[in-house]
Amino acid sequence: MNIHEYQGKEILRQFGVNVPNGHVAYTVDEAVEAAEKLGSNVTVVKAQIHAGGRGKAGGVKIAKNAEEVRTYANEILGKTLVTHQTGPEGKEVKRLLIEEGCDIQKEYYVGIVLDRATSRVVMMASEEGGTEIEEVAAETPEKIFKEVIDPVVGLAGYQARRLAFNINIPDELIGQAVKFMTGLYNAFIEKDCSIAEINPLVTTGDGQVLALDSKLNFDDNALFRQKDIQELRDLDEEDEKEIEASKYDLSYISLDGNIGCMVNGAGLAMSTMDIIKHYGGEPANFLDVGGGATAEKVTEAFKIILSDSNVRGIFVNIFGGIMKCDVIAEGVIEATKQVGLDIPLVVRLEGTNVELGKQILDESGLNITSADSMADGAEKIVSMV
Ligand code: ADP
Ligand code: MG
Repeated sequence: MNIHEYQGKEILRQFGVNVPNGHVAYTVDEAVEAAEKLGSNVTVVKAQIHAGGRGKAGGVKIAKNAEEVRTYANEILGKTLVTHQTGPEGKEVKRLLIEEGCDIQKEYYVGIVLDRATSRVVMMASEEGGTEIEEVAAETPEKIFKEVIDPVVGLAGYQARRLAFNINIPDELIGQAVKFMTGLYNAFIEKDCSIAEINPLVTTGDGQVLALDSKLNFDDNALFRQKDIQELRDLDEEDEKEIEASKYDLSYISLDGNIGCMVNGAGLAMSTMDIIKHYGGEPANFLDVGGGATAEKVTEAFKIILSDSNVRGIFVNIFGGIMKCDVIAEGVIEATKQVGLDIPLVVRLEGTNVELGKQILDESGLNITSADSMADGAEKIVSMV
């Protein structure tokens, strides 16, 4: 789960990470009011969307007085921002962060992720902050420093100091930087984050170390014990189809292609996407209906796939182990009854009750192409689409 920058900063503040003062605003008037409350010489008006790259896209503006705050708030609220992280359709701005402007001396990068190769949490830092860290990693990887963290010990003081020295934080601010990194690490662990990224962390003219941006992502599997985090969820920022899928406990991820996939089991779903690509097609989604899916769940899954206007054909690839093929067949028929089907549908069934499943589909009168194997099915749907 993802949250907004202003929410992330609120959490970081609780862990002793230094962040600028600021308030969220949903309207232009609220934005001006927030700026007056802050009373700073310079105020920053920041678009709150679940994507980075806002600065370059015109979503971060520096205002020198209340009138400018009004102008920028007017301009940004309701605007669709297109950044390198939003995709070409962009994201509509519905909230602003009105924040104290600060006198930036230098911008740095600090991030924490789970490194699957070492099975450890890793803190990364660089003096190339403010820019896209992916670019730094590609072009000057030697400018990114890493500390692998022992889960029993946590982030050790010497590790934080080493990172701070490596990225050339001025000597007199090393202590503050260490406190910052420690707070960030504690927030990451206690709040069950999957990513905690500060880009940029800045040093200021008045000798502070501050987080100017914050990106916190949380492990969905831990949300049951993070009730306060769950409340920060902003459904406006999520794909409607994915929200619908989560209601039915379906693992669904929307993708850019045009072949809808309905599969059971994450491994089979991954290989189905691979084989579609192998035959030159592009999957429209990842969808795992799970092991014990009911006909109702399959119906909902099918409806979600059909609600995607990019979908030009559907490939159902089911291995009936725990899941029975006749249940899948009934779900497919029920869903098409409810929403109609005017695009090609290729079905490959294998396993428990396969004959019954095929019979149900044959007798349905629907225009279904059956496939004998995964490869056969993928080839067929790609050529039809
Ligand atoms: P994004 O990463 O989405 O572009 P950031 O929050 O990193 O958004 O802001 C982009 C840039 O705007 C920062 O690198 C910084 O230079 C400037 N900026 C952001 N917040 C402030 C602030 N409170 N005071 C001064 N400059 C800021
Ligand atoms: Mg940033």
